[in-house]
Amino acid sequence: MIEFQSVSKEYSAAAVALLDVSFSVQKGELVYLAGPSGAGKSTLLKMIAAIERPSAGKVLVNGQDIGKLKRASVPFLRRNLGLIFQHQRLLGDRSVLANTMLPLLVTGASNMQAEQRARAALDKVGLLERAGARPQELSGGEQQRVSIARAIVNRPQIILADEPTANLDRASADRVLDALRAFHSVGVTCMISTHDEQVLDRAARVIRLDHGQLTGGAA
Ligand code: ADP
Ligand code: ADP
Repeated sequence: MIEFQSVSKEYSAAAVALLDVSFSVQKGELVYLAGPSGAGKSTLLKMIAAIERPSAGKVLVNGQDIGKLKRASVPFLRRNLGLIFQHQRLLGDRSVLANTMLPLLVTGASNMQAEQRARAALDKVGLLERAGARPQELSGGEQQRVSIARAIVNRPQIILADEPTANLDRASADRVLDALRAFHSVGVTCMISTHDEQVLDRAARVIRLDHGQLTGGAA
C-alpha cells in the first residue's frame, strides 16, 4: 500500500533529510516510525502525502508514483489519507463538532450527513460528550483526539500521525494511541511517528530512522 524505493530527500546540499530509504507497508498494517528529533520522520510522512517530493527514488501509494502526481491529483490522494500533523490546529472559534465536520463540508457532504459522521467519529475517540465545547476548553490529549476524529471522518484508508503524543503525559498519550489503534483494528493502515521510545508498542512493527537512514524495520 505504501512503498519507498531508495528514496532520498535533500532540502539543500547541507540538509539531507532522508538517504536511500526503502521499505513497504502492507494494507492494514500498524507501523511506528521511531527516531530522534531531526531523523527525518516528518519528511518521510510528508512524502506519502505529497507535501514534499523525493529528490531521488520512488514513493508509491496504492501503486501510484507520488513523485509524478500532477498538482490537480493531490487532493484525490489526500482524500484517502487521514493526516495528523503538528501544525494543523483546531479552529478556536468553532465547536469540537464543527471542527470535526469541516473536512466533510469541504468535500461537499450535506450538513446533516456531515454532522452524523462527525458525531460517529467523536464517539470513536471517546469525545462525543464534548462535541459542543470549544477546542481550548479541552486538555492537550483531548484536542489531539479531536484531531484524530477530524482526520478519519472521511474514512481514509491510511492514517499518518506525526508525533501525535508529543507534549502529552503518559495517560493522555495512551488514550491517543488507543484511539489510533482502534482504527487499525478495523483495517486502516496506520503510520505513527515518535521520538519517545516509551510509547512504542512492543508487539508492533517499528521502522527506525537515524540521520535520515533506515536502521531497522525495513522488512
Ligand atoms: P523529524 O521529524 O525526525 O524530527 P524532520 O523530517 O523534521 O525530522 O527533519 C529531518 C532533517 O531535515 C532535519 O535536519 C531538518 O532540519 C531538515 N529539514 C526538515 N524540513 C526542512 C525544510 N523545509 N528545509 C530545510 N531543512 C529541513
Ligand atoms: P513541521 O511541523 O515539521 O514544521 P508541518 O507539519 O507544520 O511541518 O508542515 C509544513 C508545511 O507542510 C505546512 O506549512 C503546509 O504548507 C504543508 N502541509 C502540511 N500538511 C498539509 C496538508 N494536509 N495539506 C497541505 N499542505 C500541508
